[in-house]
Amino acid sequence: MRYYVLDRGDQLSIDLSQQFHKLAEARGMQLDAETPEIVVSIGGDGTMLHAFHTFIDRISQLAFVGVHTGHLGFYADWQADELPALVDYMCGRSDAGARRAKIVKYPLLELEIHKKSGTTSHIALNEFTLKGIDGTIVIQIDINDETFEMFRGDGICISTPSGSTAYNKSLGGAMVHPTIEALQIAEIASINNRVFRTMGSPLLLPKHHHCDIFSCKEQRLMLTVDHNNYPIDDLVSVRCQVSDKKVSFARYRPFPFWNRVRSSFLV
Ligand code: NAP
Repeated sequence: MRYYVLDRGDQLSIDLSQQFHKLAEARGMQLDAETPEIVVSIGGDGTMLHAFHTFIDRISQLAFVGVHTGHLGFYADWQADELPALVDYMCGRSDAGARRAKIVKYPLLELEIHKKSGTTSHIALNEFTLKGIDGTIVIQIDINDETFEMFRGDGICISTPSGSTAYNKSLGGAMVHPTIEALQIAEIASINNRVFRTMGSPLLLPKHHHCDIFSCKEQRLMLTVDHNNYPIDDLVSVRCQVSDKKVSFARYRPFPFWNRVRSSFLV
């Protein structure tokens, strides 16, 4: 088994990373930074976002496993004191039986950003946001090539199902089970008056729909794709849709989404 480990950089995560390498070496696992089959993220959900973007070009050829060193994470299901058990599971040497990993696949968001200076493509694990640098933004939102609304306000957040528990949740968006292939559009403080009318409610678009966002004036914008920020002053439009690609997580034991929601936000 070829593996790679990415950690958050704090002392506990670095220590766990070193412990993981020792356990893995003893089990004959092969450290491979270029073509790993499994990428272990040690830290929090933010660390998983970094791991995801580090291996974005090989996303269909590997699976992720998350170890959390803080509170329970949405992408990180193993605790610090469970590393030996995790390595045993990964090598199929667990007492619980040589259980093969169940590969769970989550939908991703695909973006095509059209600027006067060129076009770029991105994939998001959590979300894409568009916000103003100098003040409110003015954008037109089309759904499936039909004008839907004219938006003025702080910005817009378009999230994946697994990202629905992150920024989207703070905006009053719904939490969406990751088996539902959809993207969610949530407003960030829209202004509603006679000129600018927005729906006000988050919208869920299915996989075969797409949404275009058009910049309606000269404006300095901040685009974010997960933890990455891109300042842009010549945006023409952004096309968003559910990607054909998916991210894979290796599960060696059940980790139900609604249990994670409950233990993260309620108990
Ligand atoms: P950060 O500002 O350092 O951390 C944002 C928080 O979001 C962390 O507590 C992180 O958990 C948590 N998080 C990340 N993905 C999550 C998910 N899918 N479900 C639930 N919680 C999640 O930034 P960062 O660590 O680089 O993460 C970037 C993310 O921050 C963005 O993708 C966005 O979702 C989120 N964000 C949220 C808000 C908001 O809620 N108002 C505003 C901006 C950005 P860990 O502590 O486990 O890493």
